[in-house]
Amino acid sequence: MNQSKYQLMLLGRIETTFSKWREKEFITEHELYLFLHMLKGTSGTIGLDALSAFCSSQLEILSSENYSEIPVHSLENFCKRIRSYLDGTREEDKSTVPEECHKRFDKETFVLIIDDDLEFASYVKELLEKMGAQVIVALNGKRGIEQFYSMSPNFVLIDLMLPDVSGFEILDQIKDTANARQVTIAIMSVDQSRENKIKAYERGAMDFIGKPIDIEMFIPYLFNRDGIRKTTARSITTDGLTGVGNRRHFDERIYYFAETFNRSGVHFSFVMLDIDHFKQVNDVYGHPMGDEVLRKLGEVMLAEKRELDGVFRYGGEEFAFLLSGSNDEESSQFVERVRKKFNAIVFQKSARQFSVTFSAGIATYSGDVDKLVSSADQALYEAKRTGRNRTVIFDEHKSHVKRKLHVIIVDDDALIRRMLQEELVKWTLPDIDITVEAFKDGPTFLETDWYSKEEHYIVLLDGIMPGMDGLEVLSRLKRLRVEKNILVSMMTARASDSDVKAALWLGADDYIMKPVKPKDVLLRIQQMANRLFN
Ligand code: GH3
Ligand code: MG
Ligand code: MG
Repeated sequence: MNQSKYQLMLLGRIETTFSKWREKEFITEHELYLFLHMLKGTSGTIGLDALSAFCSSQLEILSSENYSEIPVHSLENFCKRIRSYLDGTREEDKSTVPEECHKRFDKETFVLIIDDDLEFASYVKELLEKMGAQVIVALNGKRGIEQFYSMSPNFVLIDLMLPDVSGFEILDQIKDTANARQVTIAIMSVDQSRENKIKAYERGAMDFIGKPIDIEMFIPYLFNRDGIRKTTARSITTDGLTGVGNRRHFDERIYYFAETFNRSGVHFSFVMLDIDHFKQVNDVYGHPMGDEVLRKLGEVMLAEKRELDGVFRYGGEEFAFLLSGSNDEESSQFVERVRKKFNAIVFQKSARQFSVTFSAGIATYSGDVDKLVSSADQALYEAKRTGRNRTVIFDEHKSHVKRKLHVIIVDDDALIRRMLQEELVKWTLPDIDITVEAFKDGPTFLETDWYSKEEHYIVLLDGIMPGMDGLEVLSRLKRLRVEKNILVSMMTARASDSDVKAALWLGADDYIMKPVKPKDVLLRIQQMANRLFN
């Protein structure tokens, strides 16, 4: 990305604004606020951190709701100062990460913070993200539990006092799964009484951290925990919950099958299997029941497989077979048998009974592992698209419909739109059509015929826009009640901003702190895409 190009564009825009101001005698505080708000976001994004910080400090003392008039001539020094940042005469800001935090996490360090104290949560989020980890935040217990199951973090930090349920209740809901997945759960509380600690440990917490958190202590603690997790993950090949092979094991075995084929010509098929409407099972019968369904499916698959076949948990509610010596037809007959067996199981929760189905896609190896996986995936998608509870064999000659992902940027700042677009159009995903669209405001976006229930959406929403603000757009999106295929991330300017809080309460799936860096946004979108397609 050519930053100086954007800096020039920004300078141009600033000068245009200044000369518009000069034409009038007064501007309102509201106007000044919006200008600084835009400038803060944009300048930070294109690397002018000092300018961005300057804007922040000015915004602290201004109000967006104040319409009192400011004489333009009094802004002379102010304008000069802003220009000076673009002359390159000022120094860059230092990063806010403490010096001693020179170690790095990697993307696999995935932390979920369940805490209604947004200031604290976003501070930790920002810090850990700067150090390379992934962090998501839930402001209440219900949302936290959902995020735990759908995002699979490997470290959960739970505040004891939450607005809806207590941290103890969350422990009850997640501890078994957390255990099976080797997830560390830590309880945080201001009340560090002996009783509280005993209760937390008894109910499944692994650590108890006193609040306020001492961040210099917390970081090395997290490193140690993370180290153990990595070592165990490497040495274990079975999925804790279901007893079938885990993803890591699958990744090894599929190459072993491929080599065997190359050496001795033994065919094999790959079957990808995804439970139908599994989210509803969780929603209606609770996550522990959902886990029971997963265990049962694992059981049926293990019982049906032949000696040389492999059974794996591929992702959350996705499983896989590697079927040795089979072609498409044989594999299909086999999978149909498994499908019927599984479908015949009656699950019981209190007085209610239900059964569950899955869809499957099959492909047979022909020399390319990546192609094998993507072919089975496309066949699975076809099975879902054409009604679920069925098995589809990948057919080379039939054109399979590719899945569509729309990344939608809604931001009144043309520079940000353009930068994000330029970064995002370079991004590709195997077998998924990605389109990037940008809108200058909420109404323009919502009025287009943008939605189709078969497609997937990631919406990046600017928090503050003239007219309809990001929160309003978010609540309209949420009213569509189609959250399964839409993920929304709110781009927002200040950690302490009540907007972040409101956004998370309204159901935003994530938030991105402005100033946004295109590379960070891309990373975040990749995570969200993983979530959409898993
Ligand atoms: P579809 O028929 O299109 O596949 O719909 P679906 O609801 O099955 O698909 P979706 O991918 O939207 O939902 C999958 C859900 O699986 C979301 C997530 O909360 C849940 N899930 C993933 N892993 C686990 C787990 O280990 N335990 C439980 N209980 N739920 C899980
Ligand atoms: Mg599913
Ligand atoms: Mg799925």
